[in-house]
Amino acid sequence: MSNVHQPCEICLCALPDDPFEPCSCSQIQSPEFYKWGEGTNSVYNTTNFEVICAGEMRIHVSYKNASGLVERTIRYADELEEIGIKTDKDLQAHHDKGEEHFYEAMNPWFEVWSKIDADVFSDPIYELDEAVAVAIQWQEEHDKKGQD
Ligand SMILES: [Zn+2]
Repeated sequence: MSNVHQPCEICLCALPDDPFEPCSCSQIQSPEFYKWGEGTNSVYNTTNFEVICAGEMRIHVSYKNASGLVERTIRYADELEEIGIKTDKDLQAHHDKGEEHFYEAMNPWFEVWSKIDADVFSDPIYELDEAVAVAIQWQEEHDKKGQD
């Protein structure tokens, strides 16, 4: 069976045609890229568990463009993309420029939540793959329990 046009299990995007090429989401692991709105937002779901992006993002950036010095506060993922930050590498490169150019005052994170028991949730997780793996593992354990 060909894997062409099968969606990625994690981000649900179409996978690259080359089966050995990883999905682009493997370069986009940081929670900053999954902060889509105020409060928490859902990033990945299994039947009973959910990866959510929690916390607030506040990144103060300053840079020069044609009209002079620009200073802005980034709160959502699409604003990161607007200033050309599209991968974990880009994000790290901006951090490396120093706090006077790129200061992350508040950062978001991932958590895994149970959809059936509000008392069940993970510690903060900072990589998407890791959070998805926890959700899948918890789902497998849940399914096994159901069969006993
Ligand atoms: Zn993907």
